[in-house]
Amino acid sequence: MALGDSLSIVNATKYYKKFRAVDNVSMDVNKGEFLTILGPSGSGKTSLLKLIAGFEELSEGSIRLNDQDITKKKAYERNIGMLFQNYALFPHMTVFDNIAYPLRLRKVPKDETKKLVENILRLVHLGEYGSRYPKQLSGGQQQRVALARAIVFNPPILLLDEPLGALDKNLRQQMQLEIKQIQEQVGITTVSVTHDQEEALTMSDRICVMNQGRIEQIDTPEQLYKKPKNRFVAEFIGEINLIPCQIAGFEGNQTNIKLLDQAVASVETDDFHRDLQNRQALIAIRPENIQIASDETRFQNTLKAKLLQTIYVGEAIKLKMKTATEQEILVKVPAYQSNLITYEREMVLGWNGQEATLLQDEA
Ligand code: ADP
Ligand code: MG
Repeated sequence: MALGDSLSIVNATKYYKKFRAVDNVSMDVNKGEFLTILGPSGSGKTSLLKLIAGFEELSEGSIRLNDQDITKKKAYERNIGMLFQNYALFPHMTVFDNIAYPLRLRKVPKDETKKLVENILRLVHLGEYGSRYPKQLSGGQQQRVALARAIVFNPPILLLDEPLGALDKNLRQQMQLEIKQIQEQVGITTVSVTHDQEEALTMSDRICVMNQGRIEQIDTPEQLYKKPKNRFVAEFIGEINLIPCQIAGFEGNQTNIKLLDQAVASVETDDFHRDLQNRQALIAIRPENIQIASDETRFQNTLKAKLLQTIYVGEAIKLKMKTATEQEILVKVPAYQSNLITYEREMVLGWNGQEATLLQDEA
């Protein structure tokens, strides 16, 4: 099949009456890329997807497909493939006819239709199921039929809007991997929408985090997790400690900071933090990057805290702790380190500056 197409959204804004649901959004989706729009309910994800599909008109801005301006094109002219949560298959049609439906609409000749449908049935591992009816399939199989129907006519872009939202957790995780595998095999450029961070991290080449109609950050899953750009992204993805501090000074790519108890610590930072001199800021550290320091010298920074609560999560133990300055700290240690936990005294916690991020304290 053809290699995917590229999509550019330029300064896209969408008003519903006076309400700005999409606020000056710009992004490029590369050929063959799987990009996920992640954000809380009401952040404008579906609105943005509808703008791409042509179901809603832009109030401002433009959309380009492979350098062709499609802003004014109707939905059917854009020919985009779509899979939504309520992906109703036609119950009275066989699997074959369901998948052939978009080809018949497009007046594709019968023998070519047969070839295309049979090919795609094999691709979604349903080669033997063409003559069945939807109700004779499991939920996961129905989902794969719906996916096949969305891509059988070789659309330039595939749009997914919470397509797995109705499935239970195990099936959802299995389908995430299957959809991703099929998407890679076909090479189709895909924009997916979800409020489920795990789904976004699992499936995406890049994730675009949205909040109140705006983009907060676009990055690879790894960068988003390791280097969130602001408090919203830090708190939206995974668990994180945000510890107030004051910027004391800079040395190379290290920033020296003062914690509430006046302890001095050092964090690796980018240049843009230089204007924060003497200001209040937040250190962001993931719970798994704070360790119980049986040997203090291994760590660039340490702090002391008392245990409030332990939460067993199987492969790890989470420790809710509190410092002398009443700062709550969440620590996650591998279960095999449970022998390091002391319940009576304060524990020394260690963390390294390159595993923390400095954030502006916007609140
Ligand atoms: P999400 O998909 O992230 O949950 P939506 O794009 O569906 O968010 O909605 C974003 C905001 O725009 C919400 O506040 C929603 O109520 C509003 N909205 C969505 N569609 C319409 C519409 N057709 N008319 C008026 N308001 C709308
Ligand atoms: Mg939505």
